Amino acid sequence: AADTGVAVVDEAVETTDGHHVEVAANVGRPEELSAAADRGADGVGLFRTEFLFLDRESPPSEDEQYEAVCEALDTFSDGRVVVRTLDIGGDKRIPYLDLPEEENPFLGERGIRRSLDPDSDLFATQLRALMRAAADGAGELNVMFPLVATVEELEAALDAVDSAAADLDDRGVAYETPSLGVMIETPSAVFVADELAARVDFLSIGTNDLTQYVMAADRENERVGDLHDPVHPGVLRAIRHTVERAHAEDAWVGMCGEMAGDPDLTELLVGLGLDELSMSAVTTPEVKTEVSQTEYSTASERADRARHAATRSAAQSTIRDT
Ligand code: PEP
Ligand code: MG
Repeated sequence: AADTGVAVVDEAVETTDGHHVEVAANVGRPEELSAAADRGADGVGLFRTEFLFLDRESPPSEDEQYEAVCEALDTFSDGRVVVRTLDIGGDKRIPYLDLPEEENPFLGERGIRRSLDPDSDLFATQLRALMRAAADGAGELNVMFPLVATVEELEAALDAVDSAAADLDDRGVAYETPSLGVMIETPSAVFVADELAARVDFLSIGTNDLTQYVMAADRENERVGDLHDPVHPGVLRAIRHTVERAHAEDAWVGMCGEMAGDPDLTELLVGLGLDELSMSAVTTPEVKTEVSQTEYSTASERADRARHAATRSAAQSTIRDT
């Protein structure tokens, strides 16, 4: 890649001792899809569907959403595309949806909470679009739900998937139920990660929100920027707990927050046991190179030291200088 001086690596990467880690890209704007392919991403680890709702006056139709997801699946015909269902509220606003003002929007009706609103058909429409795309697009579709805090929410989301399947059956339209996953972004989701993982195929850790909620430090407030740092041992322990519980339930676990795209943290994240790292396409070549230069056994030992540290600076000091 020209701007980082690091060569694009198109093939899958593994550590020097043969441990595979998938390196995927986050897609939050239409042009980022081709950027992800150009930068050698293995797939898409976070397709932010909010962008399909921006710069217009009404929600996209089922067909429009279907087309957009098929395009992503056709771009990564040999790979995995992880689509996140609509994640609005908090920092993510869509003017025409006319969301209620909330005193604490980050603790309000965000993510899956809004999708489960019984007065809205946005979620049902989106699920039908996704399930049709799963059948028709070339790549492997995975769908995940944002900001889940409870098993009840996940079960309601899974019921909505079943209802979408029944609707498509009634219409006689081809569809497939994609692999399903949960984003781990709330402390509660970390604590019940075993229960969540038992009900889905994968977990994906959203460290932007998880750090905000574990540290009680607003992701947008620079005055608490030092606290909003995922290298704090509290966050590292939450990540490791999630990985252990996911693997015990035979679920794979990825990370799609900003942390995943910091090449200085790649060894730490590989050592914590993440199966997939998803980031802005810009850093995929660097992170792939880092993975291929990491020794998994050493990384695991260092990651154990980092998470058992008492302070951020002690955790930081275990991280290899790159
Ligand atoms: C996250 O919270 O880490 C995440 C990936 O989602 P977003 O940044 O879109 O909230
Ligand atoms: Mg988030």
